[in-house]
Amino acid sequence: MRKYVIMGVQGSGKGTQSALLVADLDLVHISVGDIFRWHVQHHTKLGAQVRRTMHAGELVSDDLVESVVRDRLDKHDWNFGFVIDGFPRNGRQAEFFMESYDIDGVIHLALPDDEVRRRVLSRRLCPGCGMDYNLIADRPEVEGRCDICGTELVTRADDTPEALAARLRDYHEKTRPVLELFRRKEVVHDVDARPAPEAVQQEIRRVLDLPPYLPKADALAA
Ligand code: AMP
Repeated sequence: MRKYVIMGVQGSGKGTQSALLVADLDLVHISVGDIFRWHVQHHTKLGAQVRRTMHAGELVSDDLVESVVRDRLDKHDWNFGFVIDGFPRNGRQAEFFMESYDIDGVIHLALPDDEVRRRVLSRRLCPGCGMDYNLIADRPEVEGRCDICGTELVTRADDTPEALAARLRDYHEKTRPVLELFRRKEVVHDVDARPAPEAVQQEIRRVLDLPPYLPKADALAA
């Protein structure tokens, strides 16, 4: 069983790297942010509770987050393990997590704040199929339209300069200490998140002692 936590400031590539890791190793990707976004989009009671906080780029209360994580992990819907992304984000969440679950490794994607700003503010999302774009590295073929389904691309409500500044502040204040906690108790692997996604994935495989990443020919051509 492989149970990993992936950590890093917004825009460091947690989603991309988790996706590459889980697809190849048959792991389940658990993104707490995606779970909340699903609830907001589907107008659930939980969605109504977290919508404003999320749009302001602030952290949702620990009680809510812990119950969402507990419900999700109680499903045990993985055969080979999971990668959890976006959690834990502060000391209390880390303690809750470490008391209840064993983890095999923490991947820390390290990225300087300047690069975070450059990446996050150029991020676009397709509300139709969920495809991510980046106006610097991964532009859509037709400006403003999804290559897959043609829906008009949007900016995530929390990808504004103000919300990003709040998230960076939160990250430095609250999430860094979590890394320190994990460093004492678990295995933290620091990975430079600046290189191209494939190179970062390769480094993740190397530090976790996993089989190397073999990019598919069509994925490279895309
Ligand atoms: P993310 O996609 O990981 O950037 O998460 C989007 C938003 O969901 C965050 O800005 C928070 O408002 C909320 N969120 C996600 N994970 C957590 C967490 N572990 N603790 C508190 N809030 C969270």
